[in-house]
Amino acid sequence: MQDEIFHAPPAFAAQAAVDADRRRLMEQAASARPEQFWLEQAGRIAWASPPTIASASDFTGDVAIRWFADGTLNASISCLDRHLATRPDQVALIWEGQDGQSERLTYAALHERVCRMANVLRTLGVGRGDRVAVHLPLVADSVVAMLACARVGAVHVVLFGGFSAEALADRLADSGAIVAITADEARRGAKRVPLKAMMDEALARTDAHAVRALLVLRVTGAEIVMQPGRDYALAPLLAQAAADCPAETMSAEDPLFVLYTSGSTGKPKGMVHATGGYMVWAAFTHDLVFDHRPDDVFWCTADVAWITGHSYVVYGPLANGGTILLFEGLPSHPAPGRWWQVIARHRVTTFYTAPTAIRALMREGDDVVARHDLSSLRLLGSVGEPISPDAWLWFHDVVGQGRCPVVDTWWQTETGGIMIAPLPASVPQKPGSATLPLPGVHSVLLTDKGAVIAGEGEGCLCMAQSWPGQARTIWGDHARFRQTYFSFAPGYYFSGDGARRDSDGYYWITGRVDDVINVSGHRIGSAEIEDAVATDHRFAECAAVGIAHDLKGQGLVVFAVPRDGTADGLAGHATQAIVRVVGRYAAPETIYLVPDLPKTRSGKIVRRLLRKIAGHELDGLGDLSTLADPSVVDRLVDAVARQG
Ligand code: ATP
Ligand code: MG
Repeated sequence: MQDEIFHAPPAFAAQAAVDADRRRLMEQAASARPEQFWLEQAGRIAWASPPTIASASDFTGDVAIRWFADGTLNASISCLDRHLATRPDQVALIWEGQDGQSERLTYAALHERVCRMANVLRTLGVGRGDRVAVHLPLVADSVVAMLACARVGAVHVVLFGGFSAEALADRLADSGAIVAITADEARRGAKRVPLKAMMDEALARTDAHAVRALLVLRVTGAEIVMQPGRDYALAPLLAQAAADCPAETMSAEDPLFVLYTSGSTGKPKGMVHATGGYMVWAAFTHDLVFDHRPDDVFWCTADVAWITGHSYVVYGPLANGGTILLFEGLPSHPAPGRWWQVIARHRVTTFYTAPTAIRALMREGDDVVARHDLSSLRLLGSVGEPISPDAWLWFHDVVGQGRCPVVDTWWQTETGGIMIAPLPASVPQKPGSATLPLPGVHSVLLTDKGAVIAGEGEGCLCMAQSWPGQARTIWGDHARFRQTYFSFAPGYYFSGDGARRDSDGYYWITGRVDDVINVSGHRIGSAEIEDAVATDHRFAECAAVGIAHDLKGQGLVVFAVPRDGTADGLAGHATQAIVRVVGRYAAPETIYLVPDLPKTRSGKIVRRLLRKIAGHELDGLGDLSTLADPSVVDRLVDAVARQG
């Protein structure tokens, strides 16, 4: 199955901007004349004064990453002002609320909203380099707030609406935000999330924060307590503010935002992204990977609080003059099929989501998909975790009806944008592989000892050279930045992920290097085992981890979630799938059938916790604040105890 190859359907290929020849030319240009190539790519965005130098980066010594350093710009001009001349009346943003409310903002309207918000920030004394925390539900104003920060030269720190008070407090203290923007409540299915109250608690929890003003957006109209002198209702301030706001001219290397990683592997890191390089990377990758067309309706389902939301809800598509869709709701509320309804209603052309969502949608059944008109779709994308070939095929066949290429995109908060992914019309897809690095991306595989692996092989996924979207540092902790990413092999950026490269040069992400399981000398990536179990459709999802084993070094333990809850005799089927697909040496020691897996708030499986639970080390479970639902841990521990 792994070698099944999908070429872009002829109807797609005929209209695509980058065919195989054009891709080859780009690759040649990027390697033969990188300075010129990147300066040309810089022309994708608007500059106050264009850069004359591309990269001045060094992965050794103190590690310095600089791109387009003598250019000046404002990111909001690229996303808004320059489109006013060509497409003022084009819809820039479509918002649909979970209960069916909707809002459409043209580029002219979005520009005005951003200017008003920017003026409110200025009135509060926010200026260049100040940090502003954005803690909002997925409403149009979340995008407006980000662009307003950019407009006044402030650094936005977007905080997920589902964070606990503790998680908020940590990030507020770490980033030193002086103003925060929150809402009364967020809607989440039948529940309401008390954002304002959470923010109050977070601010009360730590003296370390610097927040002096809290702006409050009304979303549900719930009763809230305002603290005089600190809290301001946003609506009246916006109404009074001027509808135009001159943009600050920033240096390319001025930070645009700080964003914390998902925390799958430990304490989240506040990644710092610089204005010029990040904007170029967002525009370049969005255009190439999603084959952007002016009439696209682009729906990236990520919350704006994650890097995927930053780059592919906001900056990439808006820099390219696209139409973005924001949907506030859950995939299956009030009933299964809600997301498909959104696609049909707004004639979405490009749908970009995560394997965790795809697995959940798959679980609902094909008939739910078939009830909706998905004929507007022309391209599908996946990001966040390895996607099993099985889920890939389902996405391709059932959602895309064989008509839409699927782009599996590998990247990280640290990379700012997509690094490894097919250009849909010029790189044939293999289900489960992120395929090839983008033109200009120098990915390499290194052994544990840091030696370069040539050709086919498996190793640690690293980058040999900088790229414009690369994070510049960890906020306030450059030493941690150097240590985390550049100490593994001198002169290389180390991603933390493992990958296999096949004879076509295609990359297959095997999971995080820390999650590699070594059974009797065989190195097994968590993804390999999980893909095997996914071939048995009685399981909705699963996770594999290694625990200490006297004879084998490590033994394999699998946590599998049965699709329909009835668990009798199922464990044996999971073992059979693994033995059949991977081999007898990978037969697990134990299979636990569990109701749920621990996930980060961005939907990734947290294997470090599973390792502890499997090893019965329940005392030191560590930081649970990055989990979407910490109560999963108790249910897991119970299920494991019951199964011995
Ligand atoms: P932390 O760094 O705090 O542990 P995190 O790594 O989950 O959290 P993100 O930056 O949101 O934070 O996620 C990036 C990671 O997600 C990648 O390093 C990789 O492990 C995984 N990932 C993203 N896209 C893909 C993909 N297409 N295929 C496989 N893995 C992916
Ligand atoms: Mg990471």
